[in-house]
Amino acid sequence: MQNYGLSIWSNNNFIIEDGELKLNYKCMPSLFQIAKEIRQNDIKGPILIRFPHLIRRQIKSLYSYFEKAIQENQYEGGFHAVFPLKVNQFPNAVEAVTSQGSHYNYGLEAGSKAELILAMSKTPDGAPITVNGFKDKEMITLGFIAAQSGHNITITIEGLGELETIIEVAQECGLKVPKIGIRVRLHSAGSGIWAKSGGMDAKFGLTSTEIIEAISLLTQADLLQYFTMIHFHIGSQMSDIAPLKRALREAGNIYAELKKMGATSLGSINIGGGLAIEYDQHTQSKSRNYSIEEFSNSVVFLLREIMDAKHVKHPDIYTESGRFIVASHAVLITPVLELFTQDYHEKLLSFKEENPPLVEELIELNTLLNNQNCTEFLHDALDHMESLLTLFDLGYIDLQDRSNAEILVHNIIKRALYLTSANPTNELAQLQVKLQERYLINASIFQSLPDYWGLNQHFPVMPLHHLNAAPIRAASIWDITCDSDGEIGFKPDKPLYLHDINLDEEDYFLGFFNVGAYQETLGMSHNLFTHPGEYTVTINDTSYEITKEVKSKSILSILGSIGYDQKEILNKLKGDLLKSEFITAEEKDDTLAKLEMFVEQNGYLRTTN
Ligand SMILES: *Cc1c(COP(=O)(O)O)cnc(C)c1O
Repeated sequence: MQNYGLSIWSNNNFIIEDGELKLNYKCMPSLFQIAKEIRQNDIKGPILIRFPHLIRRQIKSLYSYFEKAIQENQYEGGFHAVFPLKVNQFPNAVEAVTSQGSHYNYGLEAGSKAELILAMSKTPDGAPITVNGFKDKEMITLGFIAAQSGHNITITIEGLGELETIIEVAQECGLKVPKIGIRVRLHSAGSGIWAKSGGMDAKFGLTSTEIIEAISLLTQADLLQYFTMIHFHIGSQMSDIAPLKRALREAGNIYAELKKMGATSLGSINIGGGLAIEYDQHTQSKSRNYSIEEFSNSVVFLLREIMDAKHVKHPDIYTESGRFIVASHAVLITPVLELFTQDYHEKLLSFKEENPPLVEELIELNTLLNNQNCTEFLHDALDHMESLLTLFDLGYIDLQDRSNAEILVHNIIKRALYLTSANPTNELAQLQVKLQERYLINASIFQSLPDYWGLNQHFPVMPLHHLNAAPIRAASIWDITCDSDGEIGFKPDKPLYLHDINLDEEDYFLGFFNVGAYQETLGMSHNLFTHPGEYTVTINDTSYEITKEVKSKSILSILGSIGYDQKEILNKLKGDLLKSEFITAEEKDDTLAKLEMFVEQNGYLRTTN
């Protein structure tokens, strides 16, 4: 049985039992059953399911590993964390983060004005808010308003200009001054495909010369007492821990130097995000070379070492890990609409009383194919196919014989490929790429997996059921956009095998995992496909609950959201229809009702049951 790399990427969040994928938690519901229950209410398109317990698990893991490291290293500073809103701003994701994190005083990070407004309205009382990214005077004033309103807020400056604006606002208004952080520009860079946030050529942060200048500006303006934090972020999905350690050494020494220069209120070091999660489904290439335990230990150990060497009090540690917290909580479930080569299904074979000898031989090859002989039989089958096509061109065999031969050969190929998939020869591997079955999914890759489209980021994918049957089709996945980029292919060394399902008889669902970070607001409405319907599922000891339904936007409202007048569109359609000649008044009413219903549905296909 295939386990789709579950042991690599799922962190034990899911298990396979009785042929279905289940949550490995409390009453252990099956994802297939959850999807079926949601779809009972006439929901046909893709669905996004959130599991708040998986967010809780990550928050707990982050805090408890850091607390453990702090104890073991006799570290004297505290540990704090904020969730960076840019990773997922959707209301039900943020609500899950803040409610699951309230026990830890878990805060929020904002990187834009809109995110800051969101943070000001959603951060639990007393929990920290940090603000990064480029800021204008208004955004800085918002930070003052947040401080005045009682928030524990730190505004991190990305450049000296922002500091000058802070000083200006402080002098102009009588509002409470927020805490001030400085983002340092490190010479050590991160690793991984998102590593552009660190390094000398980084987009953000102050150089050492600018930091010294900042301290002098703060001192002159009598604001040095508000300077409490230094910050760095070396990029997302850090694959290797070594660059983080270099960054920590550098930032730790900057911190200690600043303390010596008289920054008396400085007490925290914010290490940003970057903690990676596993997206790989194949053992041979893991996305990261460290665990959360090693990560937290390294941070605490290194900071202690640097501070002890320079006789500086241990700073409080802040993290802004986002991907690590929310990636696993969301699962995208998509129905499969079609298998493109279903035409080659064995049930379509129709033999004659007497078949041409080559067809008889193919029947025999198909029957006797096994592990030992499959390469040889595959060669024979391909050879026979060629001869059969020549015979067809010469008029010696008819269309029925040709169809039978094609079905048999396809069947032999797919079974041989599967039998040798553990150890494919070069030739087989190449064939496999050519012969991938195309599974058409009722979803948009642009909307739901934009990082696949933009960055080639792989997301774990597997069927939710049929898991006690052997999947024999090497697959590629096509979405329903009219864009040839809407395809997920699989390389011969990392194939995806799916089941050969007759979709006229049953449903087949694929789950895409670890889609809870970045995919939702990055997702785009290419072809006007909308955010999938979303559901929050809470799991108890004996049952589970499906709550917080947010339906996918209707066709009219997506048109409205890009600026069309919804009423005008509907009236135009109805008017044109009414002008046409109807056979009966009843038919007219029916058609109008249909039209009104269609525009109120979302744009996904409604073909599956
Ligand atoms: C994006 C970002 C984060 C979150 O990074 P993850 O890799 O998702 O943990 C944290 N801090 C800052 C400043 C960021 O820009």
